[in-house]
Amino acid sequence: MNVNGREFVMTFDYHTHTVFSHGKGTIEENVIAASEKGLREIAISDHGPGHLTYGIKRSSVPVMRKEITELRHKYPDIGIFLSVEANIVNTGSGLDVLPEEIEDYDFIIAGYHYGTRHSYCIPNYVGAHTPFGNSEKQRKKNTEMYLKAIYSNPLRILTHPGDKGPVHMDEIAKACAERGTLMEISTWHTHLTTDEIKTAMKYDVGFIISSDAHVPARVGSFEGGVGRAVEAGLELERIVNLKEI
Ligand SMILES: [Zn+2]
Ligand SMILES: [Zn+2]
Repeated sequence: MNVNGREFVMTFDYHTHTVFSHGKGTIEENVIAASEKGLREIAISDHGPGHLTYGIKRSSVPVMRKEITELRHKYPDIGIFLSVEANIVNTGSGLDVLPEEIEDYDFIIAGYHYGTRHSYCIPNYVGAHTPFGNSEKQRKKNTEMYLKAIYSNPLRILTHPGDKGPVHMDEIAKACAERGTLMEISTWHTHLTTDEIKTAMKYDVGFIISSDAHVPARVGSFEGGVGRAVEAGLELERIVNLKEI
């Protein structure tokens, strides 16, 4: 992709879904798509087990692990990782992936979604879908819920921050900077928005662009994210999976 005369490619996509949650493709189909796009690494990060309609089954995790081990032999030129997009909740350690389950994955990523228990889904949904909007009180509660998840877990990536429930982005970015958690610029969701990138980039935090692909054809989609980053004035060197060629 050309940005002001400079050419950039995406090197890895750490946020893709498969049939193990509500994606349409298999793990192998996502790997092939990533390989064809020239990515060096891909992570399979299906929805955490606490999602009531499309979370992974805990019994699927060893099956996914076995499949990935086989695919690593079959496709040695691409790094393949087993991750999970854990759901941020307001109980326990702040995620639906339990502390003792974290080591089942190569690394974990997490985001906020509707459809999980103990996560203010109803007030956030109502706030987003009525003219009244979300209250400041709810924004504060959402922020606290995020902060607990960030500080209590080794999150590689915070996915689509600000999506489905408003947060104080300053506090989230500060926490991600302190914890070394990358903030995602999603090309599937609209968050981080351009304004949110402007807020987050004031802190010493890294960014990552993800496709959040639910079909293999979208694996490696990154152009829209670069567009928002450029609009925000973010130095593209701060996006860990972009490489200038
Ligand atoms: Zn998500
Ligand atoms: Zn996702």
